Order: sequence, then structure tokens, then C-alpha cells
Amino acid sequence: MNNETFFELLQRIAKWIIRYYDNIESYPVKSQVEPKEIYNKVAKLDNQTPASIDEIMSDFEKIILPGITHWQSPNFFAYFPANTSPPSILAEMLTSAIAAQCMVWETSPAAAELEEFTLNLLRQYIGLPESFNGVIQDTASTATLVALTVAREKKSAFSINENGFDGKTYRVYCSGEAHSSIEKAAKIAGYGRNNVVKIPTDAKYSMQTKLLEKAIKEDIEKGYLPCAVVSAFGTTGSTAIDPIDEIAEIANKYDLFHHVDAALAGSALILPEMRQMAEGIEKADSFVFNPHKWLLTNFDCSAHYVKDKETLIKTFSITPEYLKTAVDEQVNNYRDWGIQLGRRFRALKLWFVMRYYGLEGLQNFIREHLTLAKYFAENIIAEGDFELLAPVNFNTVCFRYVRSDGRMGLDEINEKLLKTLNATGKIYVTHTKLDEKYTIRFVVGQTNTKKRHVDAALELIKQTASKLV
Ligand SMILES: *Cc1c(COP(=O)(O)O)cnc(C)c1O
Repeated sequence: MNNETFFELLQRIAKWIIRYYDNIESYPVKSQVEPKEIYNKVAKLDNQTPASIDEIMSDFEKIILPGITHWQSPNFFAYFPANTSPPSILAEMLTSAIAAQCMVWETSPAAAELEEFTLNLLRQYIGLPESFNGVIQDTASTATLVALTVAREKKSAFSINENGFDGKTYRVYCSGEAHSSIEKAAKIAGYGRNNVVKIPTDAKYSMQTKLLEKAIKEDIEKGYLPCAVVSAFGTTGSTAIDPIDEIAEIANKYDLFHHVDAALAGSALILPEMRQMAEGIEKADSFVFNPHKWLLTNFDCSAHYVKDKETLIKTFSITPEYLKTAVDEQVNNYRDWGIQLGRRFRALKLWFVMRYYGLEGLQNFIREHLTLAKYFAENIIAEGDFELLAPVNFNTVCFRYVRSDGRMGLDEINEKLLKTLNATGKIYVTHTKLDEKYTIRFVVGQTNTKKRHVDAALELIKQTASKLV
């Protein structure tokens, strides 16, 4: 492709993006296609013969777009947000044009140094002390896998790294509400899924630390090795907060590695008024949150902070001859800070976002969502037809309809309500189970969600529910 054609196409795609954002509210938020529909349509195309971008774009619009769930719609209230923003998209375009492979400092010094710089600045923004060093991982799942691998090596004095497993049973603790990535990490890092001890939670879905200590003591009696504990700052189900400070004390007492999973809610720490909720965070060994969820930066960009970078690096570094460079002693080679060798230049989009919005812009963004979530919560329960099922700590509201017609149970009614809402295409919400109850989650966090979107959602939910029974 010559540069002239490429330039024309770039302009076309730029126009397409603007039109997409202009019209995004006209698409059904949740894709309405059936399984295999997209696959079969793509497979029917003449895929071997070279095609023009015109043809490919036309197929993209006809076949691919209907199979997209529009995460950037301001009416997306499902799962958790996956933000993007204009500065993030612009940086991502540059990243894909430069297409550097940023495995070590030498393969693009700017990538390594911007990663170090942006994560230092972000650390300051969220109030973590300077004793933490940051690295960008692809996802929080990876950060948690990295953390639990480091924990294992610390506990075994690097003998598992060198000689493989030693026949001892290493145990990990987290609450019953903790994210599935902890169990997944335990499977992969060799703890075994059955060695994840799920500690019961209290009425607010926070870990009961007395039961944590009890479980640790019981494990020691059984001859197991308590190795790591994972606190949640914002669980996936209801954004519950574990008592980080108390957990830190127990971790210290029993020599456990303490990782804090703040994948979604960590962004809220950019507001000084939210920091008291994370009391004790400075005592943790490892902390992760995702700017790719709720800080205007497109997927993937997960900020992982560790207190002891030497142990992290020792766990992951392998230096074959062809990867040795003259500056290894002076710089960060992030290939040693995690699983991958090859790395994308992810810091660029984070830097664009942080500079474009500034600290105050980022704070206003989070504050507005917190306000809108509170507003939704107050209004959904105002007439007594709905109840809240968990405290609204951040941007997530857990609720259900409570009027029954005597024919359907509340679980059934709320499941039907959720399906009916999503089939309208006007909003997208998802569910969880809290205390065995079918729970609808309403998450405010999309880049362009404003009060009018929340108002329209409130109206739609109330109307739809009243027609169900
Ligand atoms: C979303 C989420 C994760 C998983 O994040 P990924 O970056 O997709 O791996 C883990 N923990 C919590 C609490 C989450 O909300």
C-alpha cells in the first residue's frame, strides 16, 4: 500500500470512528447475535483472495459490527467499565504505527522509561508510598499470578524456581467473594485450586479476619505452609472492601505475602477522600488496579505495584546470552518483572491520558461516577419496589425487584427482568448472586455516561419491572 492510499484510508477510518461515537446509542448495547452466526458469515467470504479495504470495511460493518457488544456506549452498565478516551485512542494509533517490541530497555528506551515514570506519577496520584515500584501488566489476572508466584518463591527461598515442587502444601487465603483470577493463579502457580482457602465474609461481604487467623492456625496444625493472602479492595460481585489493615497485621504475624486486588476500585484512590477505605494499603507487598477498567485508558493496561522488586525480578529473570545488554545494571528491563518477554508499549496511552486530563480531570471523572451511582441507588429504592443488596462503596449498585405476584419467586422475577432489559438493547446490565439471592448489578463507569443516561435507565428498569408482574 502506498502512503497516499494509506493516508486516505486513515482519514476514512478517522471519520468512521467519529460517526461510530456519534451514533453509538442507536446500536443495541448487548450484541443480539446467536452462537456461530458471525463465524459462519465470515467463513462464507472469499478469504483467500486479496481484498480492498473498501470490501473489508463493508464486511466489517455488515458482519462484525452486529456481533459487537458496545462497551463504549454510555448505556453500558454491565460487568465493569472498560474505558477508552480520545487521548488513549490517539496514543494507541501511534503505538500500533511504531509497533515496537519493548522487551528490554534497549529495544526502546522510551518505553521502559515512560513506564517507570507514568507508574511513579500514578503511584503518587493514588497515594501509595514511594516504597512501591510499578510495572504495567496486561491484566489484573496476570498481576495476581505474578504476585502468587513471587509469594511461593519467597516462601520456598527460591527452591521451587530451581528444583520444582517440594512436596509441601502451600496455602493461599482470600475471601469467598474474591475474584476467580485468584483461584486461576493458584491452579497455574502450582498451589492447586484446593489450597485456596475461602474465608467467609460478613454482612457487608468483607472478609472476616478472625476467621482468617483461625484458618491459618488450623493449617499450621495440619502441617500446611500458609504462604499468601489476597485482600480485595472492591470485589467483583458487590465492590466490597476487605479490612486491609487487619489483614496486613495477620500477614505480618504469620509471614504471609499480602497481595491487594483492587482491579476496578483502585481508580477511586485517586480521590483523597476515598483513601481511608484502603487503610493499611502501604503495608501490602503487592497491589494491582486496572486503568483499563476505570481510568480512561483502553484495554490493556494494568498497574501492578510491588514493594520488593528484587524478589519479583529474581523470580522471573532468565538471562540467556542473546538478551544481555551493557546497561542491564542501570535500567529497568521489564521482561524480568513478569511472565512475557515481548511487551507492548502500553505506557504511551497512559501518559497521553494522564497529561491530557491532568490530575484534576481524572479526579472529576471518578467523582462524577461515584455521584451518579449514589443517585441511582437512592432513586431505584425510592418507591419501595426495589431493595439494595449491598453497600454502595463505589460505582456499583446491587439491587433487586421485590414485588412478587405470587406466581414467580423473586429470583425468577429478577432473572426475567434482566433478560427483558437486555433484550431491549437500550441498556446492558449483568447479575451476580449475593447471599444466594439473584442480584442485578448496575455499574456507572463508562467514559461518556451522564446523568441523562442514568435517568433513562432508572425509568426503563422501573417501567419494565412493573409490567412483569
Ligand atoms: C475485573 C477484575 C479482575 C480481573 O481483571 P483482568 O484485568 O480482566 O484480569 C480481578 N479482580 C477484580 C476484583 C476485578 O474486578
